[in-house]
Amino acid sequence: MKKVLSGIQPSGQLTLGNYIGALQNFVRLQETHECYFMVVDLHAITVPQEPAALREQSQSIAALYLAAGIDPQHAAIYMQSHVRAHAELGWLLTTLTSMGELERMTQFKDKSAGKESVGAGLFVYPSLMAADILVYNADLVPVGDDQKQHLELTRDLAGRFNSRYGDYFTIPEPYIPEIGARIMSLDDVSKKMSKSNPNPGSFIALLDEPDVIRKKISRATTDSGREIRFDRESKPEVSNLMGIYSLMSGLSLPEVEARFEGQGYGPFKKELAERIVDVLEPLQQRYREIRSSGMLEEVLKQGAEKASVVADRVVAGVKERMGFLKA
Ligand code: ATP
Ligand code: MG
Repeated sequence: MKKVLSGIQPSGQLTLGNYIGALQNFVRLQETHECYFMVVDLHAITVPQEPAALREQSQSIAALYLAAGIDPQHAAIYMQSHVRAHAELGWLLTTLTSMGELERMTQFKDKSAGKESVGAGLFVYPSLMAADILVYNADLVPVGDDQKQHLELTRDLAGRFNSRYGDYFTIPEPYIPEIGARIMSLDDVSKKMSKSNPNPGSFIALLDEPDVIRKKISRATTDSGREIRFDRESKPEVSNLMGIYSLMSGLSLPEVEARFEGQGYGPFKKELAERIVDVLEPLQQRYREIRSSGMLEEVLKQGAEKASVVADRVVAGVKERMGFLKA
């Protein structure tokens, strides 16, 4: 069975972008693949996090994995920090990564722009992400479009290790959905929707109350026209909202266009908000049940145990090939 690995950072509240670009695909892949889905807490601390908020967000994301339909019988669900092999392989791969490669990463450029002090962790983050994937010899990595460049680096590092120390790592493939790979911000369509955006109006959080969702959609920026037409070049805001509508309703883009022909943005936005509420309300209900059930701790423990067995073995092989003495 092919292996799948992915993760989401507990750096804020999960957004509709995370749901469409990542979570939905996790659920799809679990039936046919050996899956490892982590909450990547070691990545979240590459920008400052309040300890209490980090704890809460970590639990919230793990519970949302379950609420979205990831089944711990099928997939390992766990905290990245509970599987020590990630940090260990992360360091080993950092020593194979060049500064130039890291400097080219657009996520680093975006996240460090305008900051007075930038943590070194943010810079070396892609090496740790490579370790996350390679430590299971994963075949497939379901991610949004923004992670494509990091995945390219992962493939390069795997190839570099293989040519230096002998064939060992599987070269992983990205699994990026055709539509929904990059959901844009509601307030600024030039930026992707991100959970760490300080403006909550820029994203729909999966746990937003229905009325909050309605308000955020009604305030989402649009152009000054009134036509519901998919055209990323000349109507990027409306196209972004149409993409969300399509993914939430199951209608194709031409079907969405036909449905709202002759109507303005008002009726379209009203219905869009209802489609999102229809999807998120049952998910929120399951989320509340999971949080109050107390089941999370056991799920995370079992997931980490299962993942550690595989990851420890892979790291041991890496160390041996690199010339480390056996402990
Ligand atoms: P942060 O702002 O802290 O980086 P984020 O919203 O980018 O948060 P991540 O934890 O970095 O979320 O990414 C988790 C997964 O969600 C990744 O696979 C990423 O590609 C995907 N993803 C993130 N944002 C979007 C988006 N706007 N559209 C589609 N997929 C997305
Ligand atoms: Mg991100």
